[in-house]
Amino acid sequence: MKHHLCAYEDAVAAAATSGVWTPELRAHRDGCMTCAELTLVVAALAADAEQLADEAIPLPDPGVLWFRAQLAERERIFKRATSAIVWVQRVAVAVVAAIGLAFAPGLWALIGKFVAGLDLGSAAAGLPRAAGSPTLVLVGSVLVLGGLALWELTAVHEN
Ligand SMILES: [Zn+2]
Repeated sequence: MKHHLCAYEDAVAAAATSGVWTPELRAHRDGCMTCAELTLVVAALAADAEQLADEAIPLPDPGVLWFRAQLAERERIFKRATSAIVWVQRVAVAVVAAIGLAFAPGLWALIGKFVAGLDLGSAAAGLPRAAGSPTLVLVGSVLVLGGLALWELTAVHEN
């Protein structure tokens, strides 16, 4: 059995559906919270029904639908499989950026000293030691790997 919160509910629902409001019913709706909400719900449902009726175009070929579903499923699986890799790449890029920011002044000073230094005595003497430094090798490797990761990330987005 239907439980009515307000005696006017049926009349309000009918008016909201048809759009024909008597002045009394309109006055009641404006003063009754139950009927105001009912009007909103009925109007929303009517708008949805209208939109569905407008979209009642013939369905495409089932074979095409199935093929699209297969493609979407493959793409979903591919994204799930590669998301971890993409995140590792993002972390690598972030680490490279952090290390690059931390070491940039020292590297620039080293490069500047090497390039500008006609005084080969100090720059060239320091170079083999610097090139053999584990820190420099590590930073260089991470920079190269980070660059590759960045390139790979942009390549993934082109697909
Ligand atoms: Zn009411």
